[in-house]
Amino acid sequence: MIGLTATDSVRATNYPPMQEKLTVRFWGVRGSIPCPGLHTVRYGGNTPCVEVQAGHHKFIFDGGTGLRVLGQELLKQLPVEAHLLFSHTHWDHIQGFPFFAPAFMPGNRFHIYGMRASDGKTIEKRLTDQMLHPNFPVPLQIMGGSLNFHDLEAGQTIQVEDIIIRNTILNHPGGSVGYRLEWQGLTVTYVTDTEHFPDALDPNVLALADQAHILIYDSTYTDDEYHEVGNSKVGWGHSTWQEAIKIAKAAQVEQLILFHHDPLHNDVFLDEMGRQASCRHRNTLVAQEGLTITLTPNGKSSFQYADPVHAVSSVHE
Ligand SMILES: [Zn+2]
Ligand SMILES: [Zn+2]
Repeated sequence: MIGLTATDSVRATNYPPMQEKLTVRFWGVRGSIPCPGLHTVRYGGNTPCVEVQAGHHKFIFDGGTGLRVLGQELLKQLPVEAHLLFSHTHWDHIQGFPFFAPAFMPGNRFHIYGMRASDGKTIEKRLTDQMLHPNFPVPLQIMGGSLNFHDLEAGQTIQVEDIIIRNTILNHPGGSVGYRLEWQGLTVTYVTDTEHFPDALDPNVLALADQAHILIYDSTYTDDEYHEVGNSKVGWGHSTWQEAIKIAKAAQVEQLILFHHDPLHNDVFLDEMGRQASCRHRNTLVAQEGLTITLTPNGKSSFQYADPVHAVSSVHE
């Protein structure tokens, strides 16, 4: 288990009615750079953003361009309060934030978490700098919502009522943070932008993924691409779907989600990747925009897909 160095308790106000379920929804699943186009329609071209609704609390992992789309959905649910947790501040994880409409509106409240960047800048400073001239015309200070920034330490635990979020340092240039959310005996682990080790599974990742119901894992490359002669991706800070399966098996994960797709991987490629991965590990899915997974504390899970090819819903007992 990860060592705890501190606990922050954040109390939300104005609860909507209690919801006894946990829902994970994918708004952006792509790594590096948005890649909309005819060949990425089904899995989507937006960069990382994953929404987790646990009971009456909302969590958002990363603010890639998928955050803009989530923001449009949240406009139907005003006022909104959410906890926004950043893995790190590479562009693909923060570029949706300046376009996150609810943050501009008074009455909405966001708790924003992140670790200091490798240059020592806080998450507040990094998000502020992104919105300065000549990068962007509207400064962060114009945002009218309540923004509360929290600097995380490695191993620090966040507690929001009966929800616990742990974190760990990942292996990525400049650093990245993985998160593990626990609620009512259900666990979702979010591990993106990390590179596996050549000789052993990363103990930080194993601990964070231990017996998780859902593990979302950086599967940017295939093993062949990662080791490609003359075009090796070793040291680039990302992992492979084959390594995802090793972690899922070792950590006894219930459902593995392959995430942070390379922009070069089109729909056909990802279909085939999913087919191969499913043969190796039964409960494996390739993340796609609109995929929604619902878990209930009694062990039921259901899946909904947004795209027409995968547009079936299923229930697992
Ligand atoms: Zn990334
Ligand atoms: Zn990164």
